[in-house]
Amino acid sequence: MIVLRGGTLIDGSGRAPVRDATIVIEDGRIERVTTGPDVNGTTGAEVIDASGLTVLPGLIDCHDHLASHSYELAHRWDLDEPSSARHLRTGRVLERTLGFGYTTIRDAGGLDAGFRAAVDEGLIRGPRLLTAIAIISPIGGIGDRVSPSGHECMVPNDPALPRGVANGVEDVRRVVRTMVRAGADVIKCATTGGASSRSGHGPKDAAFDLDEMRALVDESHALGRRVMCHALGGPGLRLALEAGVDSIEHGCYLDEDPELIPMMAEHGTFFVPTLAVYEYHRNSKSAHVRERAHALREHHINSIHRAMAAGVKVVAGTDAGGHGHPPNAMEIECLVAAGLPPMQAIQAATSWAAECLGLEREIGVVDKGRRADLTVVAGDPLADVRLLQSPERIRMVLKDGRVEVRR
Ligand SMILES: [Zn+2]
Repeated sequence: MIVLRGGTLIDGSGRAPVRDATIVIEDGRIERVTTGPDVNGTTGAEVIDASGLTVLPGLIDCHDHLASHSYELAHRWDLDEPSSARHLRTGRVLERTLGFGYTTIRDAGGLDAGFRAAVDEGLIRGPRLLTAIAIISPIGGIGDRVSPSGHECMVPNDPALPRGVANGVEDVRRVVRTMVRAGADVIKCATTGGASSRSGHGPKDAAFDLDEMRALVDESHALGRRVMCHALGGPGLRLALEAGVDSIEHGCYLDEDPELIPMMAEHGTFFVPTLAVYEYHRNSKSAHVRERAHALREHHINSIHRAMAAGVKVVAGTDAGGHGHPPNAMEIECLVAAGLPPMQAIQAATSWAAECLGLEREIGVVDKGRRADLTVVAGDPLADVRLLQSPERIRMVLKDGRVEVRR
């Protein structure tokens, strides 16, 4: 049993902070949350004094690429180093991510299920992992690995990361099943290009037709997986929503079609704008990436405002990896800069994020019965959310009731 007491609790639900909170943890879960010196039945417990500190739920990033470390082609094709070195590099990222106060990460492609098993077994320290394995798209989509010269990637596939190219209704179902067989917790697909995709397949260029996407969503749901869909704008964005995906990733041009945000509100579709990655794309070495990132910026912010006004839940995700791995709370700062009040930006990385993952009964709020995932920080993140990006401010991280980080 652990008793964490004296801290100011921001519980993740959006409720006002509570001073002098006592959190009693037993068997990995929160046994109760009270205020003041609550000592009932806590004899022999480890008491942690959190006075002067702020206690938050363990933070959640709903769109990361933990096993990506560069956008360079040789890296994307796994040619730049032995896979052992790459895996150890990824292991280091997992450990650092947990050190940033992030106890749950949804990986949007590139992380094989072995990492989840390794964390669960305690071989490496890291956040709780949900992985999409690989991105599903048709020929020419963002999951199709083609060089600017037109060459297809010739490297034999890693069996832990099956190829995500699918064409036609039957093939889409086959590839969804293949991802689930490889350990996918969630299905990631793409119905448009993106800022960093090859020139000729931009943010408003569609991939997949409605029948293919309906089959993808149907098969995923039949297998108990949610669908996270990379979609920026144009007809591909609309058909993703018509097909019933569970979250729109990026969604930069949602504002251009007035019917889309009401559709999301009605269906409870989550919006994961991934603002952080576009901060990097705007300074990309590639001219076409820079141009796309600048062109979409105003629409992206406008889409967030409209989504919030319509009651669509906006969720934090960094889309990190290609540009390296900055502190995941960079996205919280970006959401505040986009107009979210700090409390809502924290909800985007806690309770709303947990709902997006379907784990709202387990994580995302500090409350009786939930898993004891806690991030304890020095200072008031409501006064300045940027402090969540400095590791020296993250004093303690608990996952499933175990102290994983203590500074
Ligand atoms: Zn991504």
